[in-house]
Amino acid sequence: MPQLKTVHYCLSYPLVLTRHCANKCGYCSYPHSEKRTLPSKKSLLAVIRQAIALGAVQVELIAGEGLDSIYAVSKNLRYFGYASFIDYLHDLLGYVECTNSNHPLFSLVNVGNLGFAELERLRPKLCAVQVMLESVDVEVQSSDAHRDAPCKVPERRLETILQCGRLAIPVATGCMLGIGESEASQVEALEIIAQVHQRYGHIQSFEIQTFWPQPGTLMANHPAPSVDDLLTMIVMARDLLPMDIPIIVKAQEHPAIIKELLQAGVTDFGGISVRREDETDPSFWKATIERARIACEEQGYQLHSRLPLHPAYYQHQYYPSGYPGRLEQAHQYHRTPHPQALQAQHP
Ligand code: SF4
Repeated sequence: MPQLKTVHYCLSYPLVLTRHCANKCGYCSYPHSEKRTLPSKKSLLAVIRQAIALGAVQVELIAGEGLDSIYAVSKNLRYFGYASFIDYLHDLLGYVECTNSNHPLFSLVNVGNLGFAELERLRPKLCAVQVMLESVDVEVQSSDAHRDAPCKVPERRLETILQCGRLAIPVATGCMLGIGESEASQVEALEIIAQVHQRYGHIQSFEIQTFWPQPGTLMANHPAPSVDDLLTMIVMARDLLPMDIPIIVKAQEHPAIIKELLQAGVTDFGGISVRREDETDPSFWKATIERARIACEEQGYQLHSRLPLHPAYYQHQYYPSGYPGRLEQAHQYHRTPHPQALQAQHP
C-alpha cells in the first residue's frame, strides 16, 4: 500500500496579552483597538484550564512590541510587581509549563523581536518562537505598511531569528504577502531563510500570511492579494526552501481553497484556533478540521495534529533543554483518545 503523505495542524489557543504596540504597521488593527490590561496570574490560569478543556496543545502568547516603552503597559507591569515585560512573560511561560494536568500544554511565544539575553532566559520554558521575517523589500519599509514600524526593519527581524539559531530555539517564521513587496524581494526573503536554516537548522516552518485590508487602518483600501498570488508564492517557497521546512498556510483563513493549497505545496495548516474571538464554540474549529481532512484525503494526504514543535524537530530531538520528557509524555497523550478533550483528531 503506498505511503500517504502527511499534513499537520496544531490545535492552538491564541491569547493576545496586549494590543499595545510601539509599532504602527499600516495593516494592523491593534493600534486602533481597545487596549485591555495585561492578564493577571489568575486570568492566565483560567485560560490554561479553558485551553485544556478545549483540547488545545499550544497556548500562543501574542503581544505587540516595544512594550516597556509604553507607559500604560509598564504601569500595569509594576502593579503586578514586574520590572519588565520579559519578567512577566517568563512567569507566564512557567504557569503554562506547570499546569497541574495530565494534558500537556506548550507555549508558542509570538511577541516580535527578542534579544539574545531575553531568549536565553525564556528558552528553558518555551517550546518555540514565532517571529515573522515579513518582508525584506526596502520599498515596503518606507511605505504605509512599515514606515512607522521600526521593529519590522528586516535586519532586526533577522537578528532575532539568528539569535534563536545560536540558542537552538526552533523558529516559526514566514512572510506577509501583498503589502507591496516585489517578487524579487519575495525570492530574496526565501533565499535568506534557506541560508539561515542551512547554518543553524532551526527553521521549523515557513508561513505565508496574506494581507487582508482591515477597516480603520492606513491600508484599508489596499487590495488583498489574489488566490493566484498566494499559490505562486507557495510554489516559489517550496522551490527555494529546503524540503525539511514545512510551508504553512492557515486552513482557517482559506477554507475554500484547501485542495489548491495542497497541490501548490502546503504541508501544514498551522495553528487552528479552538476559539473564535472570545467565543469557544467547538463546532467552528471542528468544521475546519473536517473540511481539511476531506480535502487532504481526496489529494492522497493524511491529516494529523502536531505539537507546537514540528514532528521533524521532535524526531530529531531538536528541542530546548528540559523538554524531552514532556514531549514524550505529550506525544503519548495525544495518541490516546481523551473524553474530556473535545475529541479532536490526534495521531
Ligand atoms: S508590530 Fe505591527 S503587526 Fe505587530 S502588533 Fe505591532 S503594529 Fe501590529
